[in-house]
Amino acid sequence: MLLKGRAVLSLGLRMCSTHVTAGPVIEPGRPSSDMSEFRKAFAKAKNIAIITGAGVSAESGVPTFRGEHEKWRKWHSQDLASPEAFSRNPSRVWEFYHYRRELVLDKKPSAVHLAIAECEARLKKQGRSVVVITQCQDDLHRQAGSKHVLKVHGSLLETRCMSCGQVTVNKQSPICATLKSKGAPGANVPDAQIPVDKLPRCEERDCHGLLRPNVVFFGETLDSHILTNVEKEIEICDLCLVVGTSSIVYPAAMFGPRVASRGVPVAEFNMNTTPKTEYFMYHFQGPCGTTLPPALAPHESEEL
Ligand SMILES: [Zn+2]
Repeated sequence: MLLKGRAVLSLGLRMCSTHVTAGPVIEPGRPSSDMSEFRKAFAKAKNIAIITGAGVSAESGVPTFRGEHEKWRKWHSQDLASPEAFSRNPSRVWEFYHYRRELVLDKKPSAVHLAIAECEARLKKQGRSVVVITQCQDDLHRQAGSKHVLKVHGSLLETRCMSCGQVTVNKQSPICATLKSKGAPGANVPDAQIPVDKLPRCEERDCHGLLRPNVVFFGETLDSHILTNVEKEIEICDLCLVVGTSSIVYPAAMFGPRVASRGVPVAEFNMNTTPKTEYFMYHFQGPCGTTLPPALAPHESEEL
């Protein structure tokens, strides 16, 4: 069994990123890219888990903040999306998140989001289920109509109070007056240096605590309630799709391999192979906007 001896890899619950310098060695002929074989597995599946990552958001034009060229000013997202960065310089981190919020607020669901939502609605009528387990922090799966979505890395469009812990959906643009027109990403743009009492603040009575984006920063623990639900879904699914994720951010990178270790078919849809490709039964290379919709289209065996 391919996974023996490897399944104990990094199952810690803190979000962290690995830096992979060389690709994995893949046995010739495996994984398969035979769509007709995948479609047979799809036709039989009763509980489908679809794990999505930044590549799905990228289909809607949301930058992935991955790789050397995707910096904001001088920094990579890992340098800004951390509890240390936020406590050291909340103004800078809020500028970064304000920029990201404004970007996602005017984006629309892509063909990938729509295909997943349509598949969930269609299969539900057949007594079958689809769950989306997403690392994306935008709201595009829900906008597309997906009902069962587990957001493992939080949401750009929610805030959490540092004092009282209140989580609030917040789609205001800008989120506060002082961030208006701030957050430009150019390398030479100076920090706005907004005083901390002029950053987004809690509106609960008598609180006025500093708000932060309700996202999981690098080094932080994932929400245990969401993680419990994810565990349940990856235990019961009988087909798993891993879509548009480079599979380098843990623990999400291990969800697909965990399913594969039970002998359940896992299909990866991505622009490139990833450090986890060799664990999976199927790999479909290319933009997921092209490869995914036909994979989830009605099968001839479905009673429509
Ligand atoms: Zn509060």
